[in-house]
Amino acid sequence: MKLNIDSARLRSDLTTLCSFGGRFAGSTSELQAREFLKQRLAAITHSPITIHQVPYNGWARESWNLKLLTPKSRTLHSHPLVRSPSTPPNGIEAEVIDLGRGTLEDFDAHRQEIPGRFVLVRHEYMFSTTHIHRRVKYAWALERGAAGFLIGCHLPGDLVVTGSSGGEEIPAFGISREGAAALAATANGYPRIHATVQSRTAVRNAENLIAEIPGQTDQWIVICAHYDGHDLAQSAIDNGTGVAAGLAIAGALAAADKPPRLGARVIFFTIEEWGLLGSRAYVDALSEVERHKISLVVNLDSLVGGSKLTALTSGFAELNRFVASTGLPIATHLPMMANSDHYNFARHGIPSLRLVSGFNEPESDLRYLLTSGDRLERIEPAELTAATKIAASLVATALAHESHIAPHQR
Ligand SMILES: [Zn+2]
Repeated sequence: MKLNIDSARLRSDLTTLCSFGGRFAGSTSELQAREFLKQRLAAITHSPITIHQVPYNGWARESWNLKLLTPKSRTLHSHPLVRSPSTPPNGIEAEVIDLGRGTLEDFDAHRQEIPGRFVLVRHEYMFSTTHIHRRVKYAWALERGAAGFLIGCHLPGDLVVTGSSGGEEIPAFGISREGAAALAATANGYPRIHATVQSRTAVRNAENLIAEIPGQTDQWIVICAHYDGHDLAQSAIDNGTGVAAGLAIAGALAAADKPPRLGARVIFFTIEEWGLLGSRAYVDALSEVERHKISLVVNLDSLVGGSKLTALTSGFAELNRFVASTGLPIATHLPMMANSDHYNFARHGIPSLRLVSGFNEPESDLRYLLTSGDRLERIEPAELTAATKIAASLVATALAHESHIAPHQR
């Protein structure tokens, strides 16, 4: 089956999503995106949307300040990482130990210097085989008794970096590359900082949005994308592109003249940026039988900005062969990458892949993810159309399959 992608609609959907802002979970911006998606998805699929409610511990930044005291007093541009705990109202004063990149060797070499100090590490380009995730570095800092966690941006221009630390035990901030340079170790001992953060927590309700285009069997291809993001910019690449592409593919499927062989289930997840929480709740709640009916998951997350698309195939070698058999310009990377919602399906043995642009291309525009640089202007409309057409062709090929594309794993 050939799926026709409406590039004008694709562009306008992306523009609308970005117009709400970064869609940080629990914000008005996320709520607006959710309501927009409910309407759009129902309208293009001509069917009711299923809403999967996910209660979670909400968190919002209220106020914060990070100040360098010595060697030279100045305020540092900063952004508390998601779920950073509040400090006492008067803040905390502490020394900073600069661990450079923050590899395990760096942590071990300075093990004695970490307790009671803030640890400083550097953010890395996320889509590469050698990347060490910030959550891993945070966990190493926590285990070794750090009082706080700072992560410096990799890009120049006083851009701060954000993201989740994966924990809520010690205050954690993203800072700029220039700020990190000001905190680098000197011969005169450790720099001292004063850190304050006040955050607000409340139980909230997230909503995963689901639409189904039934096929001729009881097997499903899941096409998913997360619609939440971060509040520094518009989360345009990550993941306005995936959501706009998901809408375009859903629209094309609904408009096709006959139903696909396998059914298509389109899911827009949220709280992905908080440790994949939305998809975790969804997949965990499925019965073993329902999980077995999912033939393949195609997760659309960050589709433009690099020179090509890569399918991260979660350890399923058969998926590499499947992607190659389509003849589409998609590279493959087999090792499990727990960096988006496909992971929660793969963890349950369901063949799952993530399509991502810029894999192993550190100079691609994906370097702006998690900074104020992830904006609509950065996206070339023709590039989004091309990526969406490739994703749609992959989905169309999968939907024509007789049954499972790759065996489920135990
Ligand atoms: Zn993402």
